[in-house]
Amino acid sequence: MAIAHGYAAHSHDTPLVPYTFQRRALRDDDVQIEILYSGVCHSDMHTARNEWAGSVYPDGTVYPSIPGHEIVGRVTALGPAATRFKVGDIVGVGCMVDSCGECEPCKEDMESYCEKYATWTYNSPDRVTGENTLGGYSDLIVVREAFVLSITHKPELTPATAPLLCAGITMWSPLTHWQAGPGKKVGIVGIGGLGHMGLKLAHALGAKVVAFTTSPSKVEDAKALGADEVVISRNAEEMAAQANGFDLIIDTVAAPHDLDPYLALLKRQGTLTLVGLPAEPHPSPSVVNLVAGRRNLSGSLVGGLRETQEMLDFCAKHDIVPDIETIAMRDIETAFARMAKNDVKYRFVIDMATMDKAA
Ligand SMILES: [Zn+2]
Ligand SMILES: [Zn+2]
Repeated sequence: MAIAHGYAAHSHDTPLVPYTFQRRALRDDDVQIEILYSGVCHSDMHTARNEWAGSVYPDGTVYPSIPGHEIVGRVTALGPAATRFKVGDIVGVGCMVDSCGECEPCKEDMESYCEKYATWTYNSPDRVTGENTLGGYSDLIVVREAFVLSITHKPELTPATAPLLCAGITMWSPLTHWQAGPGKKVGIVGIGGLGHMGLKLAHALGAKVVAFTTSPSKVEDAKALGADEVVISRNAEEMAAQANGFDLIIDTVAAPHDLDPYLALLKRQGTLTLVGLPAEPHPSPSVVNLVAGRRNLSGSLVGGLRETQEMLDFCAKHDIVPDIETIAMRDIETAFARMAKNDVKYRFVIDMATMDKAA
């Protein structure tokens, strides 16, 4: 066992505070990682505040809870049968730390869709002990090597690679599944942590990219991130001009909203993919919009390990990283408050060297 220091929530309405705990002794195929950076995802805040009880988490948040599933660190020890990494390697851990390994999705490298549920990096029962998993707002983690990813970006880009592990793969998986690339027109709805990665990745894949936003103030930023065109979604004329134009639209907005205006922009057989998880359902879309164009309405949940590594390698080759603001661990509550107001361009990353250790 190894002593770890982290920041934990102890209830839904108290701030995260320093917390000392133990990581498991290395199993045969485990990798021990000194965490250097941890991205701050909306899921982290929803979990700390127990806002997904009864939906994403049927039993709610288990306390103490340590969020964090955009983890980058350095390998410090290996189990006796772990062969994929060596001590000193820079590696990543995303939303999952295990899965059943036997169901069809697992066998097809689609572990996020494990029929027996993936073991999530936090707030999930360990498959061996049943203990609640604790995430990346900590200085140390132990993970099966199959769920550890290789990070090969230039060293100066290492801090910014953290959000690729959730935000990056959440966009990459539907973009590549639905074949975004040259000759394809792709829309990205919402320019936040997910959306800004969608713009960068879709652009790098060679698609024609259109950003949809409610805020005219984001037009120039969206173009700088990779949008060929920006549409103000509240402007009916601008929306109408895009009718029947898109092969794929990825909607990152988690707040409940009308999906029909976007379905109407799809070409015949085009696809609208939802990646946000609204606390309340979206209003039901019109069936006519689907039937009349043989259009698809779909969803997507992060991505499997194989495609996550493909995304990381693609991003390393093209020097693609999210735009980040680095924070100290003690400033996490301020970061949560700002994230809730979308006051960040576009992802906070915690520098774990700033960890305050509980006595
Ligand atoms: Zn996330
Ligand atoms: Zn499985």
